[in-house]
This record gives sequence, C-alpha cells and structure tokens, in this order.
Amino acid sequence: MNVEINIRRNDRVVVISGKDRGKTGRVIEVHPRKRRILVEGVNVVKRHLKANSRRGVQGGILEKESPIDVSNVMVICPHCGVASRVAHQVLADGRRSRACKKCGATIESK
Ligand SMILES: [Zn+2]
Repeated sequence: MNVEINIRRNDRVVVISGKDRGKTGRVIEVHPRKRRILVEGVNVVKRHLKANSRRGVQGGILEKESPIDVSNVMVICPHCGVASRVAHQVLADGRRSRACKKCGATIESK
C-alpha cells in the first residue's frame, strides 16, 4: 500500500487532537511506513532513570518526544501562517510539490 504523507521533516505543524492539541512544533522525524512523526516539544514523555552507580548513571527524569500519528497534525503554511490541508501539485518539469489549499503558495520541502 502506497500511502502518501503530506508532512516532511522541518515542517511546522499544529497538533489537532490528543493531549497536546493546539501545540505547534517542528517535525524532527517522519516514519512514513508507520505514519508517525516526531514533533519537537510535542508528546513529551518522562522517563524515570534509576541511578546506577556501577555504570555511572545518575538517577533522574529524562524528557523525550514520542512519535504521534500523522493524522493528529496539520501543516502550518509558511506563507500565510494558517494550518491548512496540503494539495499536491506536479510542476512543469515533472517534480511533485506541495501547495497550501488556503493561499495556493508552494510549500517547499527543506
Ligand atoms: Zn498558505
């Protein structure tokens, strides 16, 4: 199954559902096969680390982002600043690109 994912690394996205609804952040990683993405500052989970003196590990709390489903976010258009659905375009030279459905601007993948 070839599922198209509209989200690319370094996109700014807004979370539209779940406990982090309304948060925005930069996409750090995209896992197309799992349809999951990692977003900076979103879905942060705390892991409690046990101190282990033999291995020199200090106890404490480690905070780390955890992946979320791509359906839980929308891309924020860098041109009009609106969270928008993304349209697919095929450029004259055959390259595929993304476009904002609100303002029509091309959204470049960085
Ligand atoms: Zn736009």
